[in-house]
Amino acid sequence: MRELNVAEISSAIKELCIKANRVLPDDMCECIKCGAAAEKSPVGKGVFDDMIANLEAAKKEELPICQDTGMAVVFIELGQDVHLTGGDLNEAVNKGVHDGYVDGLLRKSVVGDPLERVNTDDNTPAVLHLSIVSGEKVKITVAPKGFGSENMSQLKMMTPAVTKEEIVDWVVGVCAQAGSNPCPPMVVGVGIGGDFEQCAYLAKKALCRSVSKRNPKPLYAELEAQMLEKINKLGIGPQGFGGTQTCLAVNIEQSATHIAGLPVSVNMGCHVTRHASCEL
Ligand code: SF4
Repeated sequence: MRELNVAEISSAIKELCIKANRVLPDDMCECIKCGAAAEKSPVGKGVFDDMIANLEAAKKEELPICQDTGMAVVFIELGQDVHLTGGDLNEAVNKGVHDGYVDGLLRKSVVGDPLERVNTDDNTPAVLHLSIVSGEKVKITVAPKGFGSENMSQLKMMTPAVTKEEIVDWVVGVCAQAGSNPCPPMVVGVGIGGDFEQCAYLAKKALCRSVSKRNPKPLYAELEAQMLEKINKLGIGPQGFGGTQTCLAVNIEQSATHIAGLPVSVNMGCHVTRHASCEL
């Protein structure tokens, strides 16, 4: 059994919070550049130019890409042959988020209670998704989630009789309702299947998949393509100023579900769909 001190997890999460907020994944940057090249509206093209300049400035000046540095969503895949030492895992995760947001001078956006609404002043607690996997590695992903886009997310409990066209149209309708609020061009994470809460988790997980990778099942890859095409025909355009590039990518994640149901969810991502990962 491999031993790993939780201090290493804190330190990795601190670095990932800072990195994810300053530098987008390479494939996301490429996707934005492709969107800029494909955009037909002159105003939309100008918005893309500003976005690209902003990404470059953030990287060079070591500043956050966006003022909303998000709620820290942390995914940990913990190998079952790892024995964690040195303290409590939850505390270690939150220490990493505290250090990342305080030392990295990132905006603190979390309130400790949804109704009392007092800022915790260090962006804790994180939203932690922990899964136990085989092996003796620990994979950590930090995905800071801005709420301009998060607020535009939806979930619908559909029936098994629903057609694929109806699923596509519902997802496109969610994007139409969102309009300019999620700071388009969007990245749309879609969850299909599971139960109520797993379906929402699938959509969040979909946002952490590379925007250049299509679903390995042709059935779902085809749905991703159809959704992307239809969302881009909405004409919302970059930052809602109109244009042909409303959506950069649609990522679907699916899972087994009950014979009586078909949950579908959309987790909306913005043009700053961030995540950074490492393996310990
Ligand atoms: S939705 Fe995204 S780009 Fe818009 S303010 Fe929030 S984090 Fe920033």
